[in-house]
Amino acid sequence: MLLKGKTALVTGTYQGIGVEIVKRYLEEGASVWGVSIKPSPVKEELEAYAKSFGGSFTEIYADVSNKEEVVPVLEKALKDSGGFDILVNNAGITRDGLSFRMSMKDWDDVIRVNLTSVFIVSQVISSDMIKKRKGSIINMSSIVGLHGQGGQVNYSASKAGLIGYSKSLAKEVAGRGVRVNLIAPGFIDTDMTQAIPEEARAKWLETIPMKKGGTMKNVADSCVFLASDLSSYITAQIIGVDGGMGA
Ligand code: NAD
Repeated sequence: MLLKGKTALVTGTYQGIGVEIVKRYLEEGASVWGVSIKPSPVKEELEAYAKSFGGSFTEIYADVSNKEEVVPVLEKALKDSGGFDILVNNAGITRDGLSFRMSMKDWDDVIRVNLTSVFIVSQVISSDMIKKRKGSIINMSSIVGLHGQGGQVNYSASKAGLIGYSKSLAKEVAGRGVRVNLIAPGFIDTDMTQAIPEEARAKWLETIPMKKGGTMKNVADSCVFLASDLSSYITAQIIGVDGGMGA
């Protein structure tokens, strides 16, 4: 149990990778709070799962990109939980399209949800971590934040911005016992990648040295490592979970 006694806050736990991260954290003995945009279909399942590992799961609700909405929710969660040892900024969206046709709304929405929300959430949670002189923050970037991707200028920019943000924050808080790292998943089998047209999916798979997409568990396992004391001397780093795509 690598996370026994620790409390984690994970954003974007309505579905997808966020749910898998919650499960893996529970399996490792953590108590977990999930920030979901609305009541999730897995709430009861996660609460029962938590009990079987001696922990707890608490679902709270907010749009993480709306400062007025999310800050009071986080402040209450900080009070009720006693503080978080681990923060995973996982919530994210895509609004794909070619740059010359992209609307300002699609640009703004993606930057706000994928990048600005991380600044908002981390500001609240890291202030408490700094006071306690301990904490691990994990931000969900993407391989396209490192290498770019046609049809995803907004998404790639948000995920690249997250890298600059995270490395800078890591330098600010390292002396106060708080670590900040990133995961850069490649092609993971989720609803987000199911939305990609079949032909484009096949092309992507061709570019993966391991010739297969990753699983949500592959991403969640890396989140366990970065949250645990196994990575206690690791900060400001990006772990690619990409089957070799980033090589
Ligand atoms: P998903 O669409 O299945 O899940 C995204 C989650 O974010 C959902 O739970 C959704 O409700 C939540 N969310 C979106 N906007 C929100 C908001 N404003 N407030 C609160 N919650 C919000 O996608 P996923 O594949 O599980 O992606 C999870 C993360 O991993 C994202 O940051 C994504 O960019 C990143 N990622 C995914 C892949 C992949 O191949 N699937 C690759 C690289 C990076």
